Amino acid sequence: MEPKKRYYRKRVDFFRLLTKVKLWPSRKRILHGIKTMEIKGNQALIITHCNESFMVYNSKNSRAARFLRNKWNFIPCPTCRVPDWKLEKYGSTRFSQSYGSDLADQPES
Ligand SMILES: [Zn+2]
Repeated sequence: MEPKKRYYRKRVDFFRLLTKVKLWPSRKRILHGIKTMEIKGNQALIITHCNESFMVYNSKNSRAARFLRNKWNFIPCPTCRVPDWKLEKYGSTRFSQSYGSDLADQPES
């Protein structure tokens, strides 16, 4: 079965998007699974399943935000072992200028 396509706004809040997809695109184009994400104002502490931790800023125009939207070819992190269903779900996600959810109404999880 084809996975259901999900549409998000291009202008979607970056942290909300991260909370939703729970994937982190690294500089080396490796897709990590997010284990925990602790949001403090405009910054968040992210810990991946392979136990990397780093601070990120909530910017729609950041490298990671663009990576997530553009979905360039990523290699799933072998240590994080992101499950296939999660990759498929992300793979079927589309980003649109004028259509889709901005996740604004979703409760923070
Ligand atoms: Zn990883």
